Amino acid sequence: MSTQRVAIVTGAARGIGKATALRLSADGHKVAVLDLDESACAPVVEEIKAAGGEAIAVGCDVSNSEQVAAAVARVNDELGAPVILVNNAGIIRDNLIFKMTEGDWDAVMNVHLKGAFNMTKACQAFMTQEKFGRIVNLSSTSALGNRGQANYSTAKAGLQGFTKTMAIELGKFGVTSNAIAPGFIQTEMTAATAERVGVPFDDFIKGAAAQIPVTRVGQPEDIANTVSFYCDERSGFVSGQVIYVAGGPKD
Ligand code: NAP
Repeated sequence: MSTQRVAIVTGAARGIGKATALRLSADGHKVAVLDLDESACAPVVEEIKAAGGEAIAVGCDVSNSEQVAAAVARVNDELGAPVILVNNAGIIRDNLIFKMTEGDWDAVMNVHLKGAFNMTKACQAFMTQEKFGRIVNLSSTSALGNRGQANYSTAKAGLQGFTKTMAIELGKFGVTSNAIAPGFIQTEMTAATAERVGVPFDDFIKGAAAQIPVTRVGQPEDIANTVSFYCDERSGFVSGQVIYVAGGPKD
């Protein structure tokens, strides 16, 4: 087995974050399951412990730098130096530009962009000290442009620039920084989109699958598997990359 590390997964109470937390634990790492509501993380922590892993639940708003500093310090105290960071926490506030409010714009920027900045800034101190680090940022195929998502597509494109800059700045410390751009993944986020456009989720999934070369939508485990690859000790020469995990080519 490879060296046991300490990982933080943000937005890990459900969806892609949850699957990623479970996978990194199965890979042998200790995991901080971080989300807005600490109690919502408890079932994920219990699942990890039941499978023989080690995990803690951490309540934190990633867009708040003081909460992030306290959360990362707590992870260091309780599990050890966090050297794997998966910036997964995310929200959508979709609307066409003429209806999108300043609040919709700010909320999305704050969680995706400032959140990734806050978490990375707090964790890089440990990564550079340990001379090892793995940063994985969740981008999206929406980074290429998507109707109704001026805020989200901008944030997800911005995360690709952030990813590459961290790869350049932190590479000499043994830290890699990479991004995953998922296509349609079956989670509460896509269920919320289906609800907003007034289509039953099952029909929405069937419609999406028909447009995808592998003829199915993605599952959270598809993304967790890519995170696992990036975080592997043997992936140290892979940095500054974006993998589109979308069942077909996108870029
Ligand atoms: P999800 O089911 O909505 O889960 C997102 C999690 O992030 C929720 O538990 C949410 O907590 C948490 N969160 C939101 N704001 C937060 C904050 N300020 N601080 C800490 N946690 C926060 O979403 P998902 O579908 O798993 O998506 C995960 C990531 O993949 C997101 O970055 C998303 O943009 C990206 N992505 C998803 C898809 C897809 O098709 N699903 C495609 C491309 C990219 P609450 O429940 O309390 O709000």
